[in-house]
Amino acid sequence: MADGIPLMIWVSDSEGKARFINKAYMEFYGITLEQLKLRGWQSLIHPDDLPRYMEEVMACLRDRRFLHAEVRVKRHDREWRWVEVFAQSRFLSTGEFFGIAGSSVDISERKVAQEGLRSVSAELRHILNVAPTGLTHCSRDLRYLSANHAYARYVGLPLEQIIGKPIVEVMGKSAFEIIRPRIERVLGGETVEYEDEILLSGMRKWIRAVYTPDRGPFGNVVGWVASIMDITGHKQAEEAVRQQASLVRLSFDAIIVWRFDSGIESWNRGAERLYGFTEREAIGQTTHSLLNTVFPVSCSETEAVLKEQGKWEGELRHRTKDGRELTVSARLQCIRSNDGTIRVLEVNRDITERKRMEQERAQEERRKDEFLSLLGHELRNPLAAISTAIDLLPRRATEQDRVSLNGIVARQVKLMRRLLDDLLDLSRITHGNIQLKKGRIDLATFLQSLPAATQTAIAQRGQKMILRLPSELVTFEADEVRLEQIATNLLSNASKYTPQGGTIEFSGAREGSEVVLRCKDNGRGIPHDMQQKIFEPFTRLESFLESPGDASLGIGLSLVKQLVELHGGSIFVESAGPGMGSEFIVRLPLEPAALDHPIPPEPEPLSTPQRSGLIALVEDNPDLAEVMVIALEDAGYRVKLFMDAFSALAGISDLRPFAILLDIGLPGMDGYKLLAKLREKPHLQDTLFIGLSGFKRRGAEEPARDFDFYFNKPVHVRGLLAFLDKHAQPQV
Ligand code: ADP
Repeated sequence: MADGIPLMIWVSDSEGKARFINKAYMEFYGITLEQLKLRGWQSLIHPDDLPRYMEEVMACLRDRRFLHAEVRVKRHDREWRWVEVFAQSRFLSTGEFFGIAGSSVDISERKVAQEGLRSVSAELRHILNVAPTGLTHCSRDLRYLSANHAYARYVGLPLEQIIGKPIVEVMGKSAFEIIRPRIERVLGGETVEYEDEILLSGMRKWIRAVYTPDRGPFGNVVGWVASIMDITGHKQAEEAVRQQASLVRLSFDAIIVWRFDSGIESWNRGAERLYGFTEREAIGQTTHSLLNTVFPVSCSETEAVLKEQGKWEGELRHRTKDGRELTVSARLQCIRSNDGTIRVLEVNRDITERKRMEQERAQEERRKDEFLSLLGHELRNPLAAISTAIDLLPRRATEQDRVSLNGIVARQVKLMRRLLDDLLDLSRITHGNIQLKKGRIDLATFLQSLPAATQTAIAQRGQKMILRLPSELVTFEADEVRLEQIATNLLSNASKYTPQGGTIEFSGAREGSEVVLRCKDNGRGIPHDMQQKIFEPFTRLESFLESPGDASLGIGLSLVKQLVELHGGSIFVESAGPGMGSEFIVRLPLEPAALDHPIPPEPEPLSTPQRSGLIALVEDNPDLAEVMVIALEDAGYRVKLFMDAFSALAGISDLRPFAILLDIGLPGMDGYKLLAKLREKPHLQDTLFIGLSGFKRRGAEEPARDFDFYFNKPVHVRGLLAFLDKHAQPQV
């Protein structure tokens, strides 16, 4: 029977000698009973285990107990195997010992498995303890069954003060309240995952936790296993990255990340705004082909510097999606990532406007410099003519010579006068100091007066002037003096820039609600790219060396434009290009109310005035003073001259002049201060005060009551006399 059992069964006698072994035993050890008897069973036991085993056997015999032992034995193939031994000592009824009967079973596989399990669980324990993740096993009654070191660190307590303790006691009430709803869910059988900020060992920490239900043998939830990670640092980094990302996204600078091999990887909103390409359109492209980059040196040289030095800074020119040209200040920086990939961070700031302004400023400066040399040049010409004429005058005996020399002087003075008047007017307009004196103008009458003003120049060049009058009656509001300035400027340009024998047409007509003046010539024309620019001050098509001979400062058209605009009108030029003639077109608004305005009555012809009365003149320039005294006395006035403010102040106390002409730029006390003092004198209350000045400028320190009128220097004597005739109440 014993042979049919897979157990190894053996029986030994009172002396420990084998008496029976079954088949399983014989096969396992590869031994017969005789051989065993001869060699002794001890020879089958591992020498290291034998002493312990013998001891156990002896103890069982002594205490008459059941033997249960594990021991290594040598199998038939000489391999050491673990066997589990169960044995019972046998005694006769007399109490005499007569041997042991036992069974053994090969447990080597189980032993290996057990050993493995032991080492796995030791390893597991080790892993759990070194794991950065906090791990706990909690029971249904909300206590810790176990926890690892990381968890102990989170809560700031040693493991002994955690294991077995209630959760609320370890975590603190407020933290416990935050996790309580999640505990309820995990105990309800759900796996719970969450991120939250809680107070742990006195510090606010962000944790990420996963609670997994722990089920008992019948599937009921008996607790849970929690894995907890401190993600505070991660959260802070995430926040920093988020903020940086939003800064990058919102930045007004274009921020682009690209790789040498695969093109653009990132394209922020600033880049979208600046260049008009969306992120989608830009990704994968190369920046220089997308933006048509113009490098200060070549693209390959720029890339070489970038690769060698890791950065590049400079100005680039780019083209936007809608074709605009931009100048950007660019900073390129190479960034090497952990895997060795090199990316380029490119930050571009739009400086197009700044560049344009810089260029404009430089151009303005250049134009001013040119203007100054031009001014010198243009003033020297008439001055040279005048001084030569004056030198010749005493030496010329005939009346005819004198008349012709006088004519030269008069013309050159007129030319200089016009130049200076234009300059001063331009400056006054720039300072907002020109006020229009509007009156009603009959267009036809105005046009008919024009040839007289420009006749000389046109006649000298043998040019033909055609005047076209309106076919209907047109009257409108304008400042007649300024309007004449506009028209004569255009006419004198037309003559100046048209060759001998050319034709100039000037017309005026009503077109809809506008008065339109056209000044057309068949002269040298104006290239397209200059047609806007010639209206800017100090702009001329030719350098001053090519000056057409007449005084030409490049300010006439800018003055005309400003005067037209002061009237609410506009001016532009049409020319098919060089050699094709030009047509300047001025449009002035015709107020609706003015359309049917009756023709103003013809002014009464001026009777020759009876001039008399006393005029005081304060002027420190002796030549100018002398000329003015002669002119005024010639006209019939008595004149008292003072050469400085102090003698004037003293001298005028005894006089009752009807008009006082004061030079403003007097030495010692200027014209304004003198005016203030004279205005205080009761006997001068009705006196007309006339300022003689280059500019009308007043500051805070100047007297409250201004001059009654200003005349610009050099004073136009006829204009001054006309003014005196109109305003003076001569006191005899
Ligand atoms: P300037 O004193 O030089 O004539 P303007 O401001 O009147 O100055 O004119 C500016 C420039 O425009 C001139 O220098 C000339 O080159 C050009 N220009 C003006 N009128 C004409 C015209 N009728 N035909 C051709 N060019 C003209």
